[in-house]
Amino acid sequence: MPKKLLKADEVQAVYHRLRALHPDAHCELDHKNAFELLCATVMSAQTTDVAVNKVTPALFAAYPDARALAKASPLDLEGLINRIGMYRQKSKNLVALAGMLVEHHGGEVPRTLPELVKLPGVGRKTANVVLGVMWGKPEGVVVDTHVQRVSQRLGWTRFTEPGDIELDLAKKLPEKEWDMTSHTLIFHGRRICFAEKPNCAGCGVSELCPNAFHAEKVGRKPPRPPRDAPAVKTGAKVAKKAGAKRPAAKKLVVTKRPAKTAKTAKTK
Ligand code: SF4
Repeated sequence: MPKKLLKADEVQAVYHRLRALHPDAHCELDHKNAFELLCATVMSAQTTDVAVNKVTPALFAAYPDARALAKASPLDLEGLINRIGMYRQKSKNLVALAGMLVEHHGGEVPRTLPELVKLPGVGRKTANVVLGVMWGKPEGVVVDTHVQRVSQRLGWTRFTEPGDIELDLAKKLPEKEWDMTSHTLIFHGRRICFAEKPNCAGCGVSELCPNAFHAEKVGRKPPRPPRDAPAVKTGAKVAKKAGAKRPAAKKLVVTKRPAKTAKTAKTK
């Protein structure tokens, strides 16, 4: 929870200072068109943009558009993107996504949020990245780990969940700035307001930041358990290991309401 919560006009004043500090803020996923950006954004889940940018040149050389990618098998893709996290699931999603683009959108990337979020592997965040970067029309503020952390430290929001933060920022910043708000906060988070040791001494908005010089614990994710810590087993996993079979679904027994007897009817 930030020490002080800024009002909309204060948030906008800090935002404009940040824009001046990061005039080159932009989407750092390399792409040449909407199809490439959509695929790159799907691949960027739980992975850095730098890692995605290393695999996309070979991927798009082999599959330059949705029609080519729709004909691929997920196994073909795995060999090209196996340096990024969750590459098996992402390979399946990309091929299925390309198939849907061909089948329902003439091979093009749709331009509305409801259509985009129907594509495999595409959530609200990915859809808004594409809508904002390609056409300047996101339907919200993209909240990734940097936006989540920096917006809390700056006192722009008291919320911790991305969905709540998105609504809060959308209320406090004009719609025309939603796209650049994300890029600017991401740039600031990657270059100055680091998760571990934010560079408050070198930060151009420190005098406006309610958490300056004591921000380490604000907006940070809880630490991961050590690698050698025993995994927490859920009831289902324990049961599976013990060889237990899934219990059969209970039959729904419909009992008829007893007909009123002459006696009960009389007592009413
Ligand atoms: S002053 Fe420190 S905590 Fe505040 S935005 Fe700058 S780097 Fe982040």
